[in-house]
Amino acid sequence: MLTVRDIVKGIKERKFSPLEILDNYWARIEKIEDKIKAFISLKPYEELKKEVTQLGKNPEGRLVGVPIALKDNINVRGLKTTCASKVLQNYKPPFEATVVELLKKEGALIVGKTNMDEFAFGSSTENSAYQTTRNPYDLTRVPGGSSGGSAAAVAGGMAPLTFGSDTGGSIRQPSAFCGVAGFKPTYGRVSRYGLVAFASSLDQIGPIAKNVEDIWLALSVIGGRDEKDPTTSSCPPINYPGKNWKPGVIGFCPDLLEEGVDTEIKESFTEAISIIKGLGVAVREVHLPHLKYGLSIYYILASSEASSNLARFDGLRYGQREKGENYAEMVENTRGRNLGREVKRRILLGTFALSSGYYDAYYLKALKVRALIREDFRKVLGEVDLILMPTTPTLPFEIGAKTKDPLQMYKADLFTIPVNLAGLPAISLPLSLKKGLPVGVQLIGRHFEEEQVLSAALMLEKERGDFPSPVIVVKGDCPQV
Ligand code: GLN
Repeated sequence: MLTVRDIVKGIKERKFSPLEILDNYWARIEKIEDKIKAFISLKPYEELKKEVTQLGKNPEGRLVGVPIALKDNINVRGLKTTCASKVLQNYKPPFEATVVELLKKEGALIVGKTNMDEFAFGSSTENSAYQTTRNPYDLTRVPGGSSGGSAAAVAGGMAPLTFGSDTGGSIRQPSAFCGVAGFKPTYGRVSRYGLVAFASSLDQIGPIAKNVEDIWLALSVIGGRDEKDPTTSSCPPINYPGKNWKPGVIGFCPDLLEEGVDTEIKESFTEAISIIKGLGVAVREVHLPHLKYGLSIYYILASSEASSNLARFDGLRYGQREKGENYAEMVENTRGRNLGREVKRRILLGTFALSSGYYDAYYLKALKVRALIREDFRKVLGEVDLILMPTTPTLPFEIGAKTKDPLQMYKADLFTIPVNLAGLPAISLPLSLKKGLPVGVQLIGRHFEEEQVLSAALMLEKERGDFPSPVIVVKGDCPQV
């Protein structure tokens, strides 16, 4: 299968044209998209063909001719942004996300918008108001979430590079489930301007691709200070290709593996540790005592922020509007009829946690625990260079298995959530297949040390070798030019 790097190189050397690349991926989409359902919307082929002709004239871009897809909560001017919600079913943003501007400047070709859990609330993409995306490795299983469409599109060979958002694991968890690489940058590395906000103190946009080098390239394009997002940092950009750095010590936290973790995940994690040791890197046990509270406080903090962020979908300012006798009735009808169950649950939970009388007991206390988790990471990352953790506690689960039990669904992000609470960069890398299903491993680094995380991931990837593609891809002629 072609990598992003191969595509760009091939186009620059005129081995093939951007149109040939588009045609290959388009054929693939036509072949399997009705089975996977990764996209909420696709640009019409004729329109893409016109755009592609323009690209060929300026082959200098770092992503020239690369077909990409974006999670449907990232605004592209002229395309619908639905957030997989009925409330935004006809919303076309009049402006563009900063990441989209940066990607276009480098010659990337946006082919469509991918499916997700409604407003990014979920871990399986089953909360989409439109469709259920399927895992390309097993069509009866979920692709993970909430960026499930983006991960499935890459795994299915329908796009070599996609983008998602990660508030508590939504890039890394679906990447692990779909056997692809996904990166959550340091909070402040990538502009959130034009990303529909879920929890503004946690959200980050990041890339999903087949391999670490492609992730590296994508990050080097989208990272950087943006005047339109005051939380972005002006720290030095990510170099591509970066320095060849080798970690001295990698830490792992055995107490995290005690409860509720599948044996296959534990096995795969042990394999990762032996690979690392085999590379001559020291591996040391570390302890992050407050991580066990991560899941509980995340659902208080993220829901609180979401309840406030989602107040704007009232029928007046954005999207769908239902009729009502007066303002209150109009808002009630609009929100009542157009928001899904999980969205309502989060709004209720968040509003409760922020209400006077409960604020101190829930929101404020959760903030204090968040500081303790940050401190745990700070201490440990003073002693080791990186932390290795499983990405998910379980293998990709069956469609429908957790929809009736939100708590079980929330547990899917046990290992990814603490990283967002601390604002750290982390990659999920596919490591092995267990029972024919992908298992990922997570590498977590210090703030703004993306290059170290990527270098170590590259090392691990090299040692792992090629990762087997899903049968649906092997049997279905993936883009190869
Ligand atoms: N699964 C988590 C949630 O539902 C994380 C979602 C995300 O990162 N957007 O909140």
